[in-house]
Amino acid sequence: MPSTKVKAIVLGGVNIKEKDKLVTLFTLEKGKISVSMRGVRGEKAKLKSAKEIFTFGQYCIEEGKTNIITAVDIIDNFYDLSKNIDAYYEGCAIIDIANKIASNEPNPFLFIEIIKALKTLCYDNVRKYYVFDKFLLSVLKNMGYGFLSDKCSACGTNLEHKFFNFDVGEIVCARCQNSMCEKVSDATYSALRLLDKTEYEKLHSVRLGGMGEVQSYHLLCKDFLFRTGQNCINF
Ligand SMILES: [Zn+2]
Repeated sequence: MPSTKVKAIVLGGVNIKEKDKLVTLFTLEKGKISVSMRGVRGEKAKLKSAKEIFTFGQYCIEEGKTNIITAVDIIDNFYDLSKNIDAYYEGCAIIDIANKIASNEPNPFLFIEIIKALKTLCYDNVRKYYVFDKFLLSVLKNMGYGFLSDKCSACGTNLEHKFFNFDVGEIVCARCQNSMCEKVSDATYSALRLLDKTEYEKLHSVRLGGMGEVQSYHLLCKDFLFRTGQNCINF
């Protein structure tokens, strides 16, 4: 049996048989794959912790009709996320987005983005929504749906009042808005701009005002729904 080593993050899984688990991995080298982890639900199982959501490590796969995990070197399991319920659910929402957009093609950008987001969420004292908003903003931009511009995407004039056009996923001016548009408040727009240009490592020093982060969350989730047909998890 050929054996391969991959860097992977656990996106989720389902229990099968008495002590096995069918785990969804997002790997750097092969994109999203399904693997079987045998006996991992046993009390004394060696690979017990390697089956849990958020686990990031080097997974050794024996490839066949079913991919079987034979060994794991855990790099980080982001354990502290389980001590903070808000951060935990925000992390789950990030993993859920990754699960929805990942395919069986490698996507190094998405892989690195997930690690950065989870690290920030786990180890830095960042306010609720900031990490998720930044993650979703980056992911949408990488999919070709960047929308932050100073000019109306339809007529090119400088934006004074801003409206988000969900039909095309871009921001337009008051004159170009239609029934598919929603007004974007200044607080939301500044929040999106600031999150976009701030690196994950610096997010802890950012303070957004006027509920910009919450409104950004709603706008980004709605944009994601229009772009992909999929919902984000509420947290
Ligand atoms: Zn316009």
